Amino acid sequence: MPRNPKKKMDGVGRNYKYGAYAPLTNEDEVRWQMVLGHRYRNRLVEVELDIRAKRDAIIQEVAPGLLALEDEINKMGEIIALHEKAQKEQNKKQRGRDVHPGVANLLRDLKAEKKGLVGKRKALKAELFASDRWKQDGGDHLNQQRKEGRSNAYSEYKDEGLWWGVRSKILRESGSFISGAPPKFRGWHKSVRSTRFVVQTQGGLTEEELLSGRNTTARLTLFPDGVWAEGKRRPKRMGDAILDLRIGSDEHRKPIWTSIPISYDRHLPAEAKIKWIYLFKRLLVDKEKWEVVFALECPAAADYDAIRRRGGDKKRTNRNRKGIRLRKYAQSGVVAIDVGWRKFEDYLLVGTCAASDGREWELRLDGNWLGQLRRVEGMQSYRDVLLNEQVKWLHPWLKSRKGSLPELLLPPSRNLEKWGQRSVARLVKQWMRERPIGTLDEQRALARLDEWLSRENHVWHFQANLQHQLLLYRREEYRVWARRIGEVYRCVVLEKLNYGDWHKKPPVERGGSVKADMAKKYLRDAGLSHLKNALKGGVLQVADVPHEGTTVNCHACGHADVWEDPAAKDHVCETCGLRWDRDVNAARNILAASGVTVAWEREPLAPTEAWTACSKSGLNRAQRRAISSSLAIDSEIALAVGGSE
Ligand SMILES: [Zn+2]
Repeated sequence: MPRNPKKKMDGVGRNYKYGAYAPLTNEDEVRWQMVLGHRYRNRLVEVELDIRAKRDAIIQEVAPGLLALEDEINKMGEIIALHEKAQKEQNKKQRGRDVHPGVANLLRDLKAEKKGLVGKRKALKAELFASDRWKQDGGDHLNQQRKEGRSNAYSEYKDEGLWWGVRSKILRESGSFISGAPPKFRGWHKSVRSTRFVVQTQGGLTEEELLSGRNTTARLTLFPDGVWAEGKRRPKRMGDAILDLRIGSDEHRKPIWTSIPISYDRHLPAEAKIKWIYLFKRLLVDKEKWEVVFALECPAAADYDAIRRRGGDKKRTNRNRKGIRLRKYAQSGVVAIDVGWRKFEDYLLVGTCAASDGREWELRLDGNWLGQLRRVEGMQSYRDVLLNEQVKWLHPWLKSRKGSLPELLLPPSRNLEKWGQRSVARLVKQWMRERPIGTLDEQRALARLDEWLSRENHVWHFQANLQHQLLLYRREEYRVWARRIGEVYRCVVLEKLNYGDWHKKPPVERGGSVKADMAKKYLRDAGLSHLKNALKGGVLQVADVPHEGTTVNCHACGHADVWEDPAAKDHVCETCGLRWDRDVNAARNILAASGVTVAWEREPLAPTEAWTACSKSGLNRAQRRAISSSLAIDSEIALAVGGSE
């Protein structure tokens, strides 16, 4: 049993997110800053690509073989990585017994070959670096050019009025352009979907300073009775605080502010310092969602004791203000959570908890909520059917007119069957715009497509909104869980697992397994990364322990069992004969790995206590209405969607 956990202290860098609304003042200026930031980033990409082109030209001249060799080495590396991964999987399955010698030999040969190529590259590079041409125009010369190009772009956009917070953030991020694959231009449509405005605080700002109103980059004013705006029928509540961010200076060098209504529903941690403030604007279907993120530098969790002794937390409690909930953190107690998914008939198990006080319970997602999520998927397949109907006639139509098509219809005439709904929708709109008259033949085709487009838009809006609501509901419920835990236990222990691996597996259509597909689906449903994030926000400390052996070792005797049926929930230990629930066993192992010992009184079978998130009764009226109207949206969709699962 692992007894030596590498505890990762939480709290060095943390992001605190708050829901926000569009700025009340200088909104146009904020939007313009977002556009400028987008352009500035692309300008930096341009600078980098230019330098790389110059470098490649010199290499082509002096050591022409080098570029092709680089390519070959990269490809070789990919092949080796693939084989190594396959070998690792094989080893896992065989549990270390008789590794297949064929793969090992193949890998050895490949590596030797790669080594030879790398040697060749070294020689070619030495030749290149020694050449007069490189000494004259390459190396330092290119670095100097890059530096100049970047600094020119910086002052160019300074003159354009790009505020320095955005500018310096982008400049920092573009540091990664220099090494690795060449950077790519970002299309404006991507930035429309998600973009941001950034403010950098000088030297870090505490909550106290933020609230004092004396800082010249950011200030926060609380309105315990809410911030209200004129609504269509009645005033609309827009959070309970106003955040002012500096977006520029006037002629007297006085700050120009933009005022953003936010829901300041939790305080920043004691003695945390704000380093950056981001204002995000994201596009959900056709609605804009705003969000404020404070990037914090917090004291390490271990320092909280010292802060508490200095009276930090006490001071915070006294600062309680009407209308704003104050968080309470438990100062002792540990709970281990075996995070993972397991599907039961009417719920999805997403975690099993074992705590230092001997309490054990399950975390579940309600089956009804899952059913709603399946409905969203049903809508997607309904949209696929609708699109296929169009592709079936449109593709031959385009192909038969290849000689006489306007330019915008050439790409779809080649590979329309690979296009998604939104690309086809964009094409149809563009087609209508660019050829408002067109031939009679075109008009007939457009009329058919127009009909499809209105149907597609209708279902798409609906699908995206419902999905967003369901996921928001889950996130909210996870936050509630995290708070419930954080008020009783000081520390949550999780095992270090990388769920990303599952997502990299190919789908069934491309040779993947049905099992992996199901796993991916439930993993998505469970939203485990959201659960982890919620825990980080709601509990004082989150620690990781390595995952080796937590599921197969017996928590009572420590013996590692070989599993006959890896799917079975109950297991009888071969050594000590104890019958235990697999997830409870794992949770107890994780708790032990964090250094906590508990004399368990309860039998290690499935816990009777369970917390269920997203159960129907937990839906508020608006959510219930949205879901029931989703079923009645129109009979055709309901029919198509109701049939799934
Ligand atoms: Zn045992």
